[in-house]
Amino acid sequence: MAGNIIEVTNLEKRFGQNLVLKNITFNVQRSEKVVIIGPSGGGKSTLLRCLNRLEDDYQGIVKFNDQNIMLADAGKIRSIRQKIGMVFQQFNLFPNKTALENITFAPVKLKLLSQQRAIDRAHRLLSQVGLDNKANAYPQSLSGGQQQRVAIARSLAMNPSVLLFDEPTSALDPEMVGDVLAVMTDLADKGMTMIIVTHEMSFAQKVADKILFMDQGIIADQGDPHYIFHETKNPRTRAFLSKVM
Ligand code: ADP
Ligand code: MG
Repeated sequence: MAGNIIEVTNLEKRFGQNLVLKNITFNVQRSEKVVIIGPSGGGKSTLLRCLNRLEDDYQGIVKFNDQNIMLADAGKIRSIRQKIGMVFQQFNLFPNKTALENITFAPVKLKLLSQQRAIDRAHRLLSQVGLDNKANAYPQSLSGGQQQRVAIARSLAMNPSVLLFDEPTSALDPEMVGDVLAVMTDLADKGMTMIIVTHEMSFAQKVADKILFMDQGIIADQGDPHYIFHETKNPRTRAFLSKVM
């Protein structure tokens, strides 16, 4: 359908005998913010990984910009991965590169930008995440929150059409969480299309257009924040929320 950047239809994923995603169907429109919540082991990370083919070998259809990503050849998969950025719980910065080099590395290596333009863009992105004064710092000298903001800047350097976040603040000390969420809120306000797995419920309530509650491999409940936090009668949703809020 026009306007959908991602369309997932009847996605099913097994690890051996274990069916970890069942009948997953949802769409993401351009600029939409979709937040995925739910208990550990429910399939949230696996779902994100299917969206950019970090997981292969599943049933059902995942479309990115109307292309079935399962049918994409290796070159196409590379270009899809460039357009679908991913931010992980454990930052995954290159430890032997500075913040700036972490950000310029991929666009220069993939010949998307000249060295100089990549550096200019990296400085802009570092200021966007509040870290221009850390351009020459190595990851080990940065706090977790700063490293995660560099990781977000690194994803943005590829000029993605959509950003996937897998519990981006779960590994952080509590005092760092706010800075990272502020950067994400700013991106949301700028119109970035985002799919975010998080346990930060007040953030979810504030930025989500749509919340998917995943439990035991299915989308057990979904709706806008008002529905999920105030209206749903789904006992699984309510039991989960009563534990995390
Ligand atoms: P969540 O992110 O919601 O905690 P996951 O997607 O990580 O859930 O896991 C969903 C289920 O899939 C769990 O039962 C987990 O043990 C299983 N799983 C995840 N990754 C693998 C893997 N690489 N091999 C086998 N089982 C896996
Ligand atoms: Mg997970």
